[in-house]
Amino acid sequence: WPSVHSGSSESVRSSESIPEPGVYKVMLLGDSGVGKTTLAGIFGGAEDTFHHEAEHPEDTYERNLLVDGEKTTLIVYDIWDQSWMQDNCLQMGDAFLLIFSVTDRASFQRLPGLLLQLRTARPHRRIPIILVGNKGDLARSREVSVEEGRSLAGMLSCKYTETSAALHHNTQELLEGVVRQIRLCKDEGEH
Ligand code: GDP
Repeated sequence: WPSVHSGSSESVRSSESIPEPGVYKVMLLGDSGVGKTTLAGIFGGAEDTFHHEAEHPEDTYERNLLVDGEKTTLIVYDIWDQSWMQDNCLQMGDAFLLIFSVTDRASFQRLPGLLLQLRTARPHRRIPIILVGNKGDLARSREVSVEEGRSLAGMLSCKYTETSAALHHNTQELLEGVVRQIRLCKDEGEH
């Protein structure tokens, strides 16, 4: 585990209660094959300052963003497929993207269970959670409609968006949306 996020429950608790100002951890959750790694690469790899964390170069991506005139650093974690890290992942995240592929109904049907797992791990906390239907470019193999995606998100009280990692469609907007959601939850938590 990277040294900054040592795995003991003590450090997990302290990192949760005193977050570094302006630096937030975004966790990518979802079935294998839905496009998490591809999206993470896009999130990290635009023209802004960007580097891989030295100790886990393959699964964390740092990105500086200017949103509504305010600087924020997002660290995107693509560790969900490593099942032994899932607990840490749920504890550490400041925001969660629950990703499915619109061409894979099974990955969509997994979302309510994932959300339950997340809410169980982080009760009593308002955390930004966005359902993301990826692979929107594959229109002919689509198995989940936009309406179904929206409707599930509505039932689960989450935001919904669709992306195409292949076309870089809606990816920048999604990241900015994450930042705005994080700020909103933070503001509400302080009042
Ligand atoms: P992960 O297992 O969730 O990390 O998924 P990957 O990022 O490894 O993607 C699985 C496969 O789907 C790879 O072959 C990707 O190139 C492909 N893929 C990911 N996103 C998209 C997308 O938006 N559109 C299309 N057509 N393919 C995608």
